[in-house]
Amino acid sequence: MPMKIKLGISACLLGEKVRFDGGHKLDRYITETLGKFIEFVPVCPEVECGLGVPREAMHLVAAPDGPRLVTVRSGVDHTERLLAWARKRVVELEQEELCGFIFKSDSPSSGMERVKIYSGKGMASRTGVGLFAREFMRHFPLLPVEEEGRLHDPGLRENFLERLFTLKRWRDTLALGPKPGHLVEFHTRHKLLIMSHSPKHHKLLGKLVAQIKEIPLPEFCERYQTLLMEALRLKTTIRKNVNVLLHIMGYFKKNLSPAEKEELLEIIDEYRKEYIPLIVPITLLNHYVRKYEQPYLKAQYYLNPHPIELKLRNHV
Ligand code: SF4
Repeated sequence: MPMKIKLGISACLLGEKVRFDGGHKLDRYITETLGKFIEFVPVCPEVECGLGVPREAMHLVAAPDGPRLVTVRSGVDHTERLLAWARKRVVELEQEELCGFIFKSDSPSSGMERVKIYSGKGMASRTGVGLFAREFMRHFPLLPVEEEGRLHDPGLRENFLERLFTLKRWRDTLALGPKPGHLVEFHTRHKLLIMSHSPKHHKLLGKLVAQIKEIPLPEFCERYQTLLMEALRLKTTIRKNVNVLLHIMGYFKKNLSPAEKEELLEIIDEYRKEYIPLIVPITLLNHYVRKYEQPYLKAQYYLNPHPIELKLRNHV
């Protein structure tokens, strides 16, 4: 069995009692469902920088040179302490080879976006980023990041997990050598997945792969990985998926009977109208891939991108 995907996570989401009041924020979807495929590397910025449990609650306060991390009641400023720790911690985390991070929402240390910043008059705007989350995203700009609350949105969850699994496969490919043959195979198997996120990147990556013999391999890998992660960051849409489904259907031009073609087009149209989830046309296409033996399509991650237990592509 391949090694699990390694993912950084705000420690309280795993049930660790590290919150200011000694509590936790266990998220069972994360621990029980994702936990089957993921090895978590817990990080609690406030405890790891030495603030202890319990501790006074903190929030972000607006200041001319950027928000400060300040205790709510006594007004102690912990910004420098947390930032000094965060800068060291992100360098240590390089060793872990993380494929991404799940942050605890709304936290002045761990929140990824829309964290409240208070002004002197007690007013708050939701424009902040937790201090550790900001440092992490600056240090690892290409890594997929999400918050636990957003993972309950099926579309955002799917996008995040697709990026994690693809990055893991890319790293596993690099760990083999890397050799041009393996890199080209990686690209070939991900073509339709990339197309479903960004037809533009699909073209750019195709051009890059065509030049693989002319570019030094380390430079090729760097450029390929950057474009790949940029592509997958763009969300799939119904229109992009319909485009890919019709493209796949083109491979069966000579195999399908008129009645089969009509049925497949009807199903794709029902998906387009949002009556049925993407998994339905995908399942039918997978049936034809097996029936008519299409090795190129059989190898496509688009048709089988994640472990089935995650029940993705199942929403309308
Ligand atoms: S939100 Fe972040 S800082 Fe707060 S308890 Fe959780 S991991 Fe620790």
